[in-house]
Amino acid sequence: MRVIRGRVFFRGQLGPLSLGIDEDGKIAAIKKTLRGDEEIDHGDLLILPGCVDLHVHMRDPGLTHKEDFPSGTRSAAIGGVTTVGEMPNTLPPVTSRAAFERKASVLRGRAAIDYALYAAPPSSDATATLEEAAAFKIYMAESTGGLQMNPANVGAVLVEAASQGKLVAVHAEDPEKFLAGKPRDLPSHASIRPKEAEASAVSTLGKIRGSAKLHIAHVTCIEALDAVPIGATCEVTPHHLFLDVSKPLGSHGKVNPPLRSPQDRDALWSAFRNGRIDAVASDHAPHTLEEKDGPFDESPAGVPGVATSFPLLMRRARAGEISLPRLVASMASRPAEILGVPKGLIEVGRDADLIALDPRQSEPIRAKRLRYKCGWTPFEGMEGCFPRTVYLRGDAIVEDGEPATDHRGRLIRPLS
Ligand SMILES: [Zn+2]
Repeated sequence: MRVIRGRVFFRGQLGPLSLGIDEDGKIAAIKKTLRGDEEIDHGDLLILPGCVDLHVHMRDPGLTHKEDFPSGTRSAAIGGVTTVGEMPNTLPPVTSRAAFERKASVLRGRAAIDYALYAAPPSSDATATLEEAAAFKIYMAESTGGLQMNPANVGAVLVEAASQGKLVAVHAEDPEKFLAGKPRDLPSHASIRPKEAEASAVSTLGKIRGSAKLHIAHVTCIEALDAVPIGATCEVTPHHLFLDVSKPLGSHGKVNPPLRSPQDRDALWSAFRNGRIDAVASDHAPHTLEEKDGPFDESPAGVPGVATSFPLLMRRARAGEISLPRLVASMASRPAEILGVPKGLIEVGRDADLIALDPRQSEPIRAKRLRYKCGWTPFEGMEGCFPRTVYLRGDAIVEDGEPATDHRGRLIRPLS
């Protein structure tokens, strides 16, 4: 048995503990002291569960000039993420069983971390054939990949997904509430796709939800949050928590739904801190600088973020702006629960996906360090607290902050 020691976050508290890891990479014992064939002592370092990012776009297959599965999952590991939910708007889009199987086979053996795959059912009939997907994604408005769903189909897809007990994550913006015109900058982009469009889409979903496990992706404002129906879950992205239209980002800050005003961002941060938002998800959506640098209205929406979510939030936790239990819940345990995967918690029987870090050590975020294929980050220069060691099922995949091994990740399916 391998033993890992440190100040472990266990059942809501930090304490000096030893974790015994069995041959399958699961946590087999948690005790004050344990002996093993191999013992790793992290001393004073914090040991937290690896993060589960519900929402990433690794662009593989089909768009691999922006990112690919090896590069994106390696970056995720550097940032303390050990499981991702990969979105279906790759090429070809995952709208059928054949496309799902093709994507699963293309990705096999190329991931640094574990991953679940979403599918995008175009209709309830397609939903019925996509049982192997971990969850479904529905786009109510146009975004990368052209998967916008006919609004007439949304209700039937929710019913079919409910019958399979499967999560449905929704990009909730109501295009009928969009204003005419071309965005020239971040403020005009935010006015053309206003907060009302989000709130309207979320409240429509509340009405047609039935018994579906509904998850609202990337809420940007209190108005949308107030419309989330009881029993549904929601996520927030670090770009909506840390960036807003007042930042000099130009098209590098273009995302959908858009960045909002500093006041909206403050309100969102308070709601997050107070536990009104279930999960942090990066919506990691890389594009090359060449693509992003075109005229604002032609620049594709999306920013990379999978490697910076945890470091940015850990830095804020260190500064006392959010509690450590809140951070762990929103980045590990709750997203694992939403996706229905055996991750996100330090507990006997769970996968030993762990991060070890010194919370006193922070550094300015530099794109080079993150190793994204696209080579840039909208958080350049902001302070982050990066993990020193990251374990996937008990194996170190990051050591001294640098990638240690590759290709240990597996496709995971939700527990049924
Ligand atoms: Zn997305």
